[in-house]
Amino acid sequence: MLINTLVEPGRHHGNRSNHLVFVLLKAEKHGLNRIEPEPYTCECGIILTPEVLDRGDESKNSWPNCKSWRDGGKKKCPECDEYPSIDREQHIRARGYEPTPKSQIKSVTQSQREAALEETDHTCITCNSKAEYVKRMVPPRYGGSRDVVNLAPLCNKHYKKYGHMFADVLHPEEWHQIHHLDWEGYVEALRDKYANGSNRLVNILDSLLDEGQPENPYPYID
Ligand SMILES: [Zn+2]
Ligand SMILES: [Zn+2]
Repeated sequence: MLINTLVEPGRHHGNRSNHLVFVLLKAEKHGLNRIEPEPYTCECGIILTPEVLDRGDESKNSWPNCKSWRDGGKKKCPECDEYPSIDREQHIRARGYEPTPKSQIKSVTQSQREAALEETDHTCITCNSKAEYVKRMVPPRYGGSRDVVNLAPLCNKHYKKYGHMFADVLHPEEWHQIHHLDWEGYVEALRDKYANGSNRLVNILDSLLDEGQPENPYPYID
């Protein structure tokens, strides 16, 4: 379920565009399957933990959390001395999700698109301008479904000028993948907002807040 959207400023890397973050409750309902984050593997077979990659090319430190981690941070594999090619599925596993093979992805149909647009009366979920596009909040390669729950009507600006990400309030570890967003502050405000409403949700949020945000579990982000 979509709660609202936030913006991750692109400033942490000069050339990165701002990202619209879909803040979700139970991303599993959008089709997401979580797994233990897995480090990359080189074609030569060696497991490319960040430490291994650092040994391969100490001069480069393009970690973490930028587009370059799709190609191993542009670091050479210390075993075969080649630049590893990290495919999209490895990239998704490193982030802790089971990828959907490209061949299994089906496009959103016209009637699914229309149904999503009708949900918001053809307005953008972020700014209330006219929605011209429908975006999957959990992307299809991440298992994101074509159900209305996963389809976000967006205006031209919020579709084209932004990158798109998601974060689940019930998975505080996931928020390490996004820069400049404060999970604890967000969830405290959410808990206060629902304090007179759903007790079940408030209880869940309270116990998450008690536990606090865990350390970053992802190998290529710090
Ligand atoms: Zn190698
Ligand atoms: Zn908009």
